[in-house]
Amino acid sequence: MAKKALITGISGQDGAYLSRLLLEKGYDVVGIIRRSSHFGVAEHRLRWLGVLDDVKLIDGDLLDLASLCRIVGEEKPDEVYNLAAQSFVTTSWQQPVLTANVTAVGVTNVLEAIRLVRPQARFYQASSSEMYGLIQEPMQSEATPFYPRSPYAVAKLYGHWITVNYRESFGLHASSGILFNHESPLRGREFVTRKVTDGVARIKLGLATELRLGNIEAKRDWGHAADYVRAMWMMLQQDTADDYVIATGVTTTVRDMCRIAFAHLGLEMDKHLVIDPAFYRPAEVDVLLGNPAKAKAAFGWEPQIDLRTMITEMVDADMKRLSAAPEAVSDMVPLERGAARRAAG
Ligand code: NDP
Ligand code: GDP
Repeated sequence: MAKKALITGISGQDGAYLSRLLLEKGYDVVGIIRRSSHFGVAEHRLRWLGVLDDVKLIDGDLLDLASLCRIVGEEKPDEVYNLAAQSFVTTSWQQPVLTANVTAVGVTNVLEAIRLVRPQARFYQASSSEMYGLIQEPMQSEATPFYPRSPYAVAKLYGHWITVNYRESFGLHASSGILFNHESPLRGREFVTRKVTDGVARIKLGLATELRLGNIEAKRDWGHAADYVRAMWMMLQQDTADDYVIATGVTTTVRDMCRIAFAHLGLEMDKHLVIDPAFYRPAEVDVLLGNPAKAKAAFGWEPQIDLRTMITEMVDADMKRLSAAPEAVSDMVPLERGAARRAAG
């Protein structure tokens, strides 16, 4: 019989790529989706990857334990991937309580639903390199102490430790993937890579003249979402649950990432890039660099897509989207909301 996977956050970037991967592996895929007055909009990433018709979507919310218990009880999943979160660092300073409720306590809700209703299910928690924040070692591994620098990172740290605790307290097969930044053409446009690839495409097409960014000296270890969801699945195939860093082991400044995007379209970065202090953060994570050696040794995971390949793929996708519908912001998001998000990003 086919295995069944339940994905929270199925409408997000990773949810879409993980759905595609699991469908390719023959899984039945069920996803939890928040009810919205914008019917059909949240599904745009699943549609973009061509998998919308192959997954089952059920209304639920991480904040609603009853809905989670009902869904886990009815669907009886073999594997549960908890990808849902308020996932944007900047928003976490504007909505710290919501971020704590969803990104931290929400993890306990999912774990409780599993413990009470389906304790044999395997659990994946989407932890984050943001937990390292003010880095305590130049290269971060599973043994590096954490020092979160935003309400988002603090909430993720709670999610990480409650996952470890449920594994140790109740014997759940619960693993935490400490994933470094990963991107794709389906990344939200508020995150810096996508803001850049969307921005350069707009400049190229004459829809904009400048791109406004904050701290371009920050460094990130960027990988591709398609590679990183493979690691999630591999973790849950291990006999014993554990925690793993997933990263490329290469770190790059925002400035150099931008340079790749501008150069790909033959544009001069210095003519268009404007530094805008409005995008500086109250506390910054200056540099992240991950060591994925444990995951490689345990189950042979290695990234296959490098930063240049990924950024050019993202620029090409944004050129295509914007050329098809230049009057609209891409991704089926209405123009006003896109503009507001841009201001917040
Ligand atoms: P996205 O922001 O693209 O997706 C987040 C998902 O969570 C969306 O499907 C969203 O639904 C859903 N969600 C938010 N709040 C709730 C709620 N209350 N109940 C149910 N669902 C909710 O994130 P990514 O796909 O990029 O990331 C997946 C996970 O991995 C997140 O937990 C993120 O924090 C974590 N992570 C991501 C990294 C990255 O670089 N991408 C790095 C490390 C960790 P809706 O569509 O309705 O908004
Ligand atoms: P994060 O690592 O999860 O916060 O991912 P982001 O893509 O949001 O940000 C990565 C880095 O880019 C951070 O150090 C930001 O300060 C930096 N950055 C610089 N300018 C911008 C901007 O305009 N938007 C965003 N989102 N990040 C920016």
